[in-house]
Amino acid sequence: MQIKQNYSLLKHNTFGLDVKTKYFAEYANEADLQKLLRDEYFFSQPFWHIGQGSNLLFLGDFDGVIVHSAIQGIEKIKETAGFVWLKAGAGTDWDSFVAHCVQNGWGGLENLSLIPGEVGSSAVQNIGAYGAEAAGCIEEVHAYFLETGEKKIFSNPECEYAYRDSFFKKQENRGKYYITHVVYKLSKKPEYKLDYGNIREQIGAGTVNLETVRQAVIAIRKSKLPDPKKTGNAGSFFVNPCIGMEHYESLKKRYPGMPHYPVNEKTVKIPAAWLIEHSGLKGKTAGGASVYEKQPLVIINQGNASGRDIADLAAEICKTIKEKFFIDLQPEVNYI
Ligand SMILES: Cc1cc2nc3c(=O)[nH]c(=O)nc-3n(C[C@H](O)[C@H](O)[C@H](O)COP(=O)(O)OP(=O)(O)OC[C@H]3O[C@@H](n4cnc5c(N)ncnc54)[C@H](O)[C@@H]3O)c2cc1C
Repeated sequence: MQIKQNYSLLKHNTFGLDVKTKYFAEYANEADLQKLLRDEYFFSQPFWHIGQGSNLLFLGDFDGVIVHSAIQGIEKIKETAGFVWLKAGAGTDWDSFVAHCVQNGWGGLENLSLIPGEVGSSAVQNIGAYGAEAAGCIEEVHAYFLETGEKKIFSNPECEYAYRDSFFKKQENRGKYYITHVVYKLSKKPEYKLDYGNIREQIGAGTVNLETVRQAVIAIRKSKLPDPKKTGNAGSFFVNPCIGMEHYESLKKRYPGMPHYPVNEKTVKIPAAWLIEHSGLKGKTAGGASVYEKQPLVIINQGNASGRDIADLAAEICKTIKEKFFIDLQPEVNYI
């Protein structure tokens, strides 16, 4: 296990914040993790597990232990005529995992191409894009429970997946399980999802296969989202809010063009980007943080933002949306 002291997290968060942690502990295998979970000193101070930090906002230096999994590798553990089951280490780069599946002709994750992060976090976050969610292909999640140090294998239903939500994100479980591996079930006879976000148009008259779908998704994403290697950001900062039908009906009278997606008979989802754009917040800044011009759901670091600047801007956006639409926006990003 590698333990570093007074360590910069600049390379471990996509907002590009040069914050420090008192300790940075990186475990390479399950034995290392078990050792860490038996260490009393570790539990005597604040600790937090990270992936690539693409959904995190550090408000300042971290006075404790930041933990990271370096468990890598992709192993085929089962195969039938129609499916393969792959067990991937939590520290495996997500997009490399998707590329591996696509290259081998295994479908299910191609619409999730180019999402930053690691395999372990994909199972916490239930990442989603272009009509697909990680939950649709997750078979098992292997995790250690911090309170007992015991390993538990979660089946898909036990992970309680919902839109950008899981058992691991619930308030009572948050930060209490460390994921070491995720088992994904991929299809050898892929069914393509092309009717989301212009994938069909992007492919045009070309052949539809896993590789062309992946390349179409990559091209669309690159045209819309800032590259975190060049401009600090954490993707969508807010979750799209769900509101009651009565609330929606009263807003519709004032904003007839407001887009909405029925969730069930009682609830409607409203795109947070539309709310932000129609509150005149596009391009708004606070310190070195700013609402991204091309996609108002994204907050960017203009180069010299602090975590506080980003949090202040997010708070101002929430206040404005609440005053104008009576809607509570919730950050998707985890504040540390
Ligand atoms: C440009 C950009 C575009 C994005 N687009 C999308 C998108 O289309 N769809 C989408 O869903 N998300 C998107 N995101 C958000 C982000 O990529 C995902 O949330 C991703 O899963 C985070 O992965 P990470 O490894 O960086 O995790 P981190 O941000 O480091 O951590 C996320 C959470 O997972 C927990 N965690 C990480 N590893 C483990 C582990 N091994 N065990 C237990 N807990 C762990 C952390 O404690 C934290 O709660 C985008 C982000 C950026 C910067």
